[in-house]
Amino acid sequence: MIPITTVQFGPEVEEEVLAVLRSGNIAQGRVVERFEKAFADLSGVPHAIAVNNGTTALVAALEVFDLEPGDEVVTTPFTFVATLNAILEAGATAVFADIDEDDFALDATAAEAVMTDRSRVLLPVHLFGQTADMGALTKLAESKGLRLLEDSAQAHGATCEGRSAGSFGVGTFSFYATKNITTGEGGIITTADDAIADRLRVLRNQGMRQRYQYEMPGHNYRLTDLQAAVALPQLAHYGEILEARRSNAAWLTTALTDIDGLVAPRVMPGREHVWHQFTVRITEDAPVDRDEFVAKLGEKGVGAGVYYPRLVHDYDAYRDHPRIRVGETPVAERVSKQVVSLPVHPALTQADLVTIADSVREVLAR
Ligand SMILES: *Cc1c(COP(=O)(O)O)cnc(C)c1O
Repeated sequence: MIPITTVQFGPEVEEEVLAVLRSGNIAQGRVVERFEKAFADLSGVPHAIAVNNGTTALVAALEVFDLEPGDEVVTTPFTFVATLNAILEAGATAVFADIDEDDFALDATAAEAVMTDRSRVLLPVHLFGQTADMGALTKLAESKGLRLLEDSAQAHGATCEGRSAGSFGVGTFSFYATKNITTGEGGIITTADDAIADRLRVLRNQGMRQRYQYEMPGHNYRLTDLQAAVALPQLAHYGEILEARRSNAAWLTTALTDIDGLVAPRVMPGREHVWHQFTVRITEDAPVDRDEFVAKLGEKGVGAGVYYPRLVHDYDAYRDHPRIRVGETPVAERVSKQVVSLPVHPALTQADLVTIADSVREVLAR
């Protein structure tokens, strides 16, 4: 089976981790600081604040925006559940707007249409490794006086018009096991704002600036040096990791042209994709539906994934939630029934790529 994702570490990671183990300082310390500096550089921002996962990164970012009950966060319904859970945990109201079918991300016109005088935060998600249309979304946030929070969990190093994901507003990233850069569990928040960075550093550490000096009710959201040690070599080699993902994506895109019922992923003008996922759409022109397509690929040894099969609020757990406003999102609804992600990770061999492309063609042949 060609897996949809693999986790592989080289000797450099082993050495960094071993050095931390032998140092005796395994909690948050110098290695986390080195990691924060390196990640801030990658993202083109002055500050990066490491936290224990990508969900708490979102919660912390929302908390420093000082939202009041009833304040609304305008976001996409086509995302991982963490985006919604973080909004609810921060006490805000989630308002959903439709997406663009080409980049799978929040559409600025649709977002504007659902805004009210309680809207405080615009929260696009850079899905699958490509940013949302940040030119339009930044302009919208500025014109309406909203904070901009970029859920960049899947888009480490992606760019839009030369600027990195997480540098337009406040950015949050995840280092979960399957993400482009991983620490097993981990997250980080990027910002150009000195005051926000300072508050986030205090907030993640029990609201404590110096020992037993509490400035605010806080959290324990700290990352550990052990985890940061796993990430440092990945950051150092991220260019090569991206090169492998990009070359796999380019090869697959060429190999999958002119197939009835399959829409290959599109790289939007002015954006650099980091290919967290290679996501195609299976349309009604295909001889099989999306779920049959995934099952038949599985029979042929290709591990495909569906991210995400339903809109994030479309579960009983969220039905009639008093702080969720759903609205009309027909594009997101259709796309969630069409998407399939194919393996694109750096461990793929040329033979794997051929197997993937041949299998897709066979399953979609009439
Ligand atoms: C992974 C992910 C998160 C959450 O990150 P965790 O580290 O798993 O908490 C948030 N948003 C999106 C879009 C993600 O893919």
